[in-house]
Amino acid sequence: MDANLKVTCRVCGRTGVFPTRDIVAYFRARSWNSAWTAAGERFRCDGIGAEGCGARGAHLSLVPIARAPAMEPPRPTARDLRAEADRRR
Ligand SMILES: [Zn+2]
Repeated sequence: MDANLKVTCRVCGRTGVFPTRDIVAYFRARSWNSAWTAAGERFRCDGIGAEGCGARGAHLSLVPIARAPAMEPPRPTARDLRAEADRRR
């Protein structure tokens, strides 16, 4: 799936964004119901250093994966192509 999973705490509104495929794999490994409505109940507002409020249950949504635009590589000029053709003669 070409989207990240955004998990929002229903109580304090804290959010986390996870790679959807990793979360799906985790749910499958634990044989958890990954249905959209059931999955939210598996999350707890936890976080490192007790930054979360501890509430269970979260709102889930999908967010597009932000990608840096690819830079255009330099392209051979007409002169380059002519020089190449000359070398092959
Ligand atoms: Zn919370």
